[in-house]
Amino acid sequence: MTQRRVTILGSTGSIGENTVDLIARAPERFKAVALTGGRNIARLAEQARRLNADLAVTAFPDLHADLRAALAGSGIDTAAGPDALLEAADRPADWIMSGIVGAAGLPPGLRALRQGTTLALANKESLVCAGPLLMAEARRHGARILPVDSEHSAVFQALVGEDITAVERVIITASGGAFRDWPLDALASATLAEASSHPNWDMGQRITIDSASMFNKALELIETREYFDIDPMRIETLVHPESLIHALVGFRDGALMAHLGPPDMRHAIGYALNWPDRLDLPVARLDLAQIGCLNFRAPCVQRYPALRLAREVMEARGLAGAVFNAAKERALDHFFAGRVRFTDMAALVENALGLLAGDSAFGAEVTLDNVQHVDHMARQAADDWLGRGAHPGV
Ligand code: NAD
Ligand code: MG
Repeated sequence: MTQRRVTILGSTGSIGENTVDLIARAPERFKAVALTGGRNIARLAEQARRLNADLAVTAFPDLHADLRAALAGSGIDTAAGPDALLEAADRPADWIMSGIVGAAGLPPGLRALRQGTTLALANKESLVCAGPLLMAEARRHGARILPVDSEHSAVFQALVGEDITAVERVIITASGGAFRDWPLDALASATLAEASSHPNWDMGQRITIDSASMFNKALELIETREYFDIDPMRIETLVHPESLIHALVGFRDGALMAHLGPPDMRHAIGYALNWPDRLDLPVARLDLAQIGCLNFRAPCVQRYPALRLAREVMEARGLAGAVFNAAKERALDHFFAGRVRFTDMAALVENALGLLAGDSAFGAEVTLDNVQHVDHMARQAADDWLGRGAHPGV
């Protein structure tokens, strides 16, 4: 059997660790090419040795000496910095995981498409910021993008063998996050620690907080629109506290196909890794008799303003997604630093969207330069919002 060459961008994160776990279970099937990480050098070096990768890259140049020292004598190449991430994306591979968090994942993910092979896309921010650019680049180079977000993997699987024009609606489920049952007036005082615990999924801290605010679901609505090219009016959100149904696809004949599975990202990652085959995966099997019942409710519009903002972004398209994502990332930085309250994050993002829509920045072509330009402006708008004292204080 010929080995498939795999690269993992963001190998030290939650998605990256799950990917490493799957790859390490089948050394006869996979050859690790490049692994990239951030500040956790010990973990990156350990993974690189474990998978016997050709190259390990940290995003931070000041940590290159540490990485080199940690891999001394291993024969594994090391590099650091943004250009090195692009070089990692250039190393010939058959399958590349885009598992970096945030807009930082866009340049290496975009670059990886030039190889014309497969990009497994966990980095939803890429599609939100630059959906048309990413899809066009994939087409130009004959590359395939496979969704790794659990909801989008579920939709993708429900669509196998189906005609997209027969789709009436797509329903993306949401757990409701850490505060789904909190009184609305308590949300403003929610702490970082409280926002950092997810009821069902074990994920990176940023996406966990984005789940509490539903900014994650907002990104996923936009991601659905960009990936499947579905009219936003046909994309719905459904709160499903058990997180066992990941998405549903409704067809014009009234059939509704649901995808069920345990909340374990190794299913979606493994599906993308083995596609188009289905191979054994080390995920728990659902015992529906034991589970007994599943619950659903409509998302509360007051609790989750991010969902309303996502609708505006889907309608505006163009660079609106890049503004939305950058303002959201910056709002989260400010929440981390204790500079804004949990509920201020949506106000801050709405303000940035309003300001930059006024500039008609949304209408410009979706190029990497333009995306990075409005990304910068949106982060600036988020900082200005703080400086103006628009927030009532923390
Ligand atoms: P994480 O924070 O656990 O890991 C992020 C990875 O990106 C790490 O390897 C980190 O070193 C690297 N990184 C961080 N900042 C970087 C930068 N500026 N430049 C280069 N690398 C950088 O995040 P995660 O939870 O694994 O999420 C990764 C992506 O997958 C996100 O886009 C997230 O929305 C998406 N996703 C995650 C899950 C999940 O279960 N964790 C589920 C669905 C989608
Ligand atoms: Mg998801």
